Amino acid sequence: MPTDEVAIIGAGLSGLCLALALHQQGIKATIYESRSSPLNIGGAVMLSPNALKILDALDVYKDVRVRGYNFDLLEMVKVTGELLERYEFGGVEKYGYQANRCYRTELIDVILSKVKSLGIPVEFGQKYTRVVEEIDDQVVWESSDGAHHTTSFLVGADGIHSSVRKYLYPDNEPKFIGMAGITAVAPASKVTYSHGKIDKPLTIMSEDKGAFVIAPQRADASEMFFGKQKRVDEKDRAGWDKFLADKQELINFLQEDAEAFGEAAVSASSNIIPEKLNVWPFYVIPPLERWASANRRVVILGDAAHAIPPSAGQGINQAFEDVYIFSLLLAASKIRGVNFADALTFWQTYRQNRINKILELNKQIDLRRMPKDKRPVDLHGVAVEQKEFDLQWLYEPDFKAEVENWVKSAEV
Ligand SMILES: Cc1cc2nc3c(=O)[nH]c(=O)nc-3n(C[C@H](O)[C@H](O)[C@H](O)COP(=O)(O)OP(=O)(O)OC[C@H]3O[C@@H](n4cnc5c(N)ncnc54)[C@H](O)[C@@H]3O)c2cc1C
Repeated sequence: MPTDEVAIIGAGLSGLCLALALHQQGIKATIYESRSSPLNIGGAVMLSPNALKILDALDVYKDVRVRGYNFDLLEMVKVTGELLERYEFGGVEKYGYQANRCYRTELIDVILSKVKSLGIPVEFGQKYTRVVEEIDDQVVWESSDGAHHTTSFLVGADGIHSSVRKYLYPDNEPKFIGMAGITAVAPASKVTYSHGKIDKPLTIMSEDKGAFVIAPQRADASEMFFGKQKRVDEKDRAGWDKFLADKQELINFLQEDAEAFGEAAVSASSNIIPEKLNVWPFYVIPPLERWASANRRVVILGDAAHAIPPSAGQGINQAFEDVYIFSLLLAASKIRGVNFADALTFWQTYRQNRINKILELNKQIDLRRMPKDKRPVDLHGVAVEQKEFDLQWLYEPDFKAEVENWVKSAEV
């Protein structure tokens, strides 16, 4: 007999958050992580109300809020400081939560501490290798030490290069979109900006050079994060490591054309903290037909299921939505007898619809950020039409109520 209901593969943000969400529903899970400690990729992430309400429901928001930098808006400005457009990333009155820019390590620390305090087991140094078989209501899977584990469900929260996804799609590989984010950090005290205080993320636009992003980070705004996108060829893992190791080349790129973006870009790129330089190669997983195996014992979520381009900053926020809604539906199928296959169909359809809308939002943002000659086009090569930002659909849903509505309709 299985000892656990759910084996979660990966102690990244999706896996850790899933463990909390399942625990809240009274479902027993163990997390298996191949590394000896949590993965620490990338500096900080931006959390929006759709994700923060989930972290709040899981009782970790109060600790996240004090660790990160809280803000409401992003502003797109000209080099002259003239405001072009505002983009809401949060707001207490309208959406219940300010946005929060938090170091990934801090976020993981908060969630992992909660996981541990609840006694949820996390097995570091345990690598998933393959599914052995799915039999009736169980799945047998193997870890790299050769041990076989039997659980009711196996959930791949193992990131963009997911091994669990290979079980569903043996030939699927993440697609590189030819761009990488090159980012850095400077002490805020060294960054000058004569058009006011940089107290919110700014995108400084240049007609022909594109966009330069700069944002305060750390709870006390003592750091200034900044970066630009660069066209690069795809590399293997060693190639990306080498690319990141060449700090001077990255600094040169960030300093190149800095004048075109004004004094904030010049002062920030002259005061880079070398050890905080980062490279984010943009890989995506194009929409997959299904996020679960035919027997529905194996499920993928987060980046493993739908890694998306970064423009709208929704990568991790969308992963939290997957996790929370999945846990509510699994509980509904166990406690209220809702058909699990139908619940999975509802889950994937609901989630994919929202991801499709994010992809549209990404295009709208790219349209504004890209130099004129590189602006996005639709499938027919026609330039994407610029629309006003509408973010209510993104931040406002009450996920619990939406699941409840569906469960009620499924119970009838
Ligand atoms: C440099 C960088 C910067 C980023 N910045 C942002 C940002 O600002 N905002 C944003 O929204 N998103 C950002 N992203 C994207 C974001 O990191 C992902 O959307 C998010 O990490 C997905 O979380 P996840 O838990 O699904 O996967 P991951 O964070 O990749 O976690 C997967 C975990 O699974 C483990 N694992 C993998 N294989 C196995 C196995 N076989 N067995 C056991 N464990 C395994 C891994 O070690 C890892 O701990 C960034 C990504 C990068 C690379």
